[in-house]
This record gives sequence, structure tokens and C-alpha cells, in this order.
Amino acid sequence: MGCLPSKTYILYPASQTITLELCTFCILIFMHALRKVIFAGFLVSLVLSCAYTWHAEPRTIEGREVCDPMGPFPQMIKIPVFTKAWQIMYSCDRYPQEPTAIAMSMFYMEWSRTFGDPTGRVWRALNKLMVDYDPRPKGGSAYDIAGQYRSEASYGGLALTPSYIWVKPYDDYILCESSLVHELVHISIWAIKGTDGDPDHIGSKFSGWTVDHSALVQRVNDTLCSLGI
Ligand SMILES: [Zn+2]
Repeated sequence: MGCLPSKTYILYPASQTITLELCTFCILIFMHALRKVIFAGFLVSLVLSCAYTWHAEPRTIEGREVCDPMGPFPQMIKIPVFTKAWQIMYSCDRYPQEPTAIAMSMFYMEWSRTFGDPTGRVWRALNKLMVDYDPRPKGGSAYDIAGQYRSEASYGGLALTPSYIWVKPYDDYILCESSLVHELVHISIWAIKGTDGDPDHIGSKFSGWTVDHSALVQRVNDTLCSLGI
């Protein structure tokens, strides 16, 4: 297919008109196709430029602190996301700071959705928390989750002050199976009440903890377990 007006121009003027019209039609088709090609090229270049030039540049994030397996223990490592939260580690395996931060974030998300945090007390308490993963066993008198007093109990964790919790680490358990989320509820209640973290849970001696708090612990831990945390 081609446009050759020079051969028909002298002998067949009528045909020349048709030929010119055909040529115009050819040009229009060519221009239309060219526009498509240019547009397609523009899209491809846009996608390629996006793919090759956009990437995260965490310039504002300070050098990440990591546990040193060859260093002396215990080590105090910053918990990311939370401004002044730290954890004390006795081995680099139990438990790294990233899962701790994810667990705390999940907890706060669920707490806000369930109870709200209008004054920001819970958020502030989480942001200045110290999490101690000391593997040495601890025990003594305590209230169980139902509010029953036990004179001899083996602790899985403790909320020792409004900003210090001890969470017993387990070699075979991941974080969702530890007491971390449970202790975060104590810390949150403590932040709201100001006097205590309700040590007897759903018992009647102290106020704060309800069945809704127990259900929240279950929900958050289920979510963490499903993520392998
Ligand atoms: Zn408790």
C-alpha cells in the first residue's frame, strides 16, 4: 500500500483527486497511529521512571540499634516507633525489638478502637515504657486472671511500675504466647487510674480490668500469632 500521486496527475485528473484523498486518509491514519505510539511511549517511560526513581529514603531515621550477639548482656535496645520506649535483652533471640514494636502498635490500635484514648495517657505511657525480658523465673503471691489470690504463684510477667514491665521470655514460644500484651493492659489501666494497674484483674478488690480487657488481650494475641509474631 502506498501513495503515488505523481503517476496519475497528468493522464487521469479525476483519479488524481481520489489518489490525493487516499493520501490524506493515509496521513490521517499514520498520524493517529503515531499519536498512539507516542502516548504508549509516554506511559512506558512514566512507569519506568516511577519504578526506577521512587524508593524509600529513611533520611530522618537515626541509625538503627540492634542487639549484638557477641556483646555483653543484658543490652538495652530502643523499641522503634515509640519515642522513649526501650527493652532489656538477655539474648538476641528473645525477643527482638521489631516484634515488640509491632505488638505494642497492634495493642494500641485495638485499645483505641475498643476504649478510646481521648487524653492520650495510654499512648504516652507506651512511649516511655521499659520492657524487661529477663529469663530468670520469678514467683510469689499474686492474683490470677479471675481475681483469686494465690500465695505461691509462678509469674509469667509483672507490671512493676507505671512504666516498667517484666515479660518472661520462652525459648519455644513466640511473643504472642508471652505476657507482653497482658502487661500492656496493666500499664494502660495504670496510666488512666494513676494509682495502680488493677493487679486482681476481674476481681472486685481493685477496679479497672473487665472481661472486655481480657477479650482484647485474646484478640491482639490471636492477630500476632497469625502473623508469626
Ligand atoms: Zn496481670
